Amino acid sequence: MSLEICQTAEEMSRLREGWRNAGLKTGLVPTMGALHEGHLSLVAKISPLVDRTIVSLFVNPTQFAEGEDFRNYPRTEQEDVEKLETTAANAVFVPTAKEVYGDDMSATISPGSLAAGLESDTRPHFFGGVVTVVHRLFELCRPDRAIFGEKDYQQLLVIKQMVRENNLDTDILSGPTIREKDGLAMSSRNAYLDASQRKTAASLNRIMRELCDSFTSQRDLARLPALEGEAANRLLAAGFSGVDYFTVREAETLGPATEKSDALRLLAAARLGDIRLIDNMPLS
Ligand code: AMP
Repeated sequence: MSLEICQTAEEMSRLREGWRNAGLKTGLVPTMGALHEGHLSLVAKISPLVDRTIVSLFVNPTQFAEGEDFRNYPRTEQEDVEKLETTAANAVFVPTAKEVYGDDMSATISPGSLAAGLESDTRPHFFGGVVTVVHRLFELCRPDRAIFGEKDYQQLLVIKQMVRENNLDTDILSGPTIREKDGLAMSSRNAYLDASQRKTAASLNRIMRELCDSFTSQRDLARLPALEGEAANRLLAAGFSGVDYFTVREAETLGPATEKSDALRLLAAARLGDIRLIDNMPLS
């Protein structure tokens, strides 16, 4: 089946109404384009679970603050479409901001409690933009299921919370983080790294794994602040210019890790000049 390309809300609506009338279940993979193996893994995971798969490519202006990289964000639509032609995707939705937002480009949906801290400490506008665009894409595509990457772990939890709190009837699935050979999590923004930064970037995942390895027992919480502090120092020594956070949290609530926590997650964000990398992993 060939890949349908929809540019307007009306085209999208016509396509999905046809599918719904035929009783076909639809899955959505929201992306900002500049597709890599991480995005394609989400297409591969959701497509066997639905009848039709839509991938959206939309660089969402409301999740960027003034001075962030909205203008420079990599836009590779032609290559993205060519990559999607090799996958099980049935449609690609490439709307303009006007098609998504009309004339009101403000973030109108408020994120819930899981948006507090971590990413929001550095990017306070970010989750408002994310939940607003996801809500809007759900209105336009009306997916039965949608999939998001664990790569953006706090975002995944914030979206699940938004869906619960707004009683949306889209099932949220998640896919594991796809990495380069040296452990660096794939990201469209990795294209900004020069050769020397690219080398340094790999140490983020390595230093995170080292913390996980030395944290042998979930009951070993007293050592955590020291381990987190040492890891942050090692990142700086490896060439990172700043560490926004490097912290072990309760996996479901993102609250502090305690003896009562069922599962723990290490989350980190660090900067290489203007480039900000994030990553996360479970602590076993
Ligand atoms: P983005 O285009 O960066 O907004 O990402 C679109 C979707 O792909 C989000 O759900 C991300 O979490 C997910 N994603 C990004 N990078 C990866 C990766 N390396 N592995 C798996 N999923 C990813």
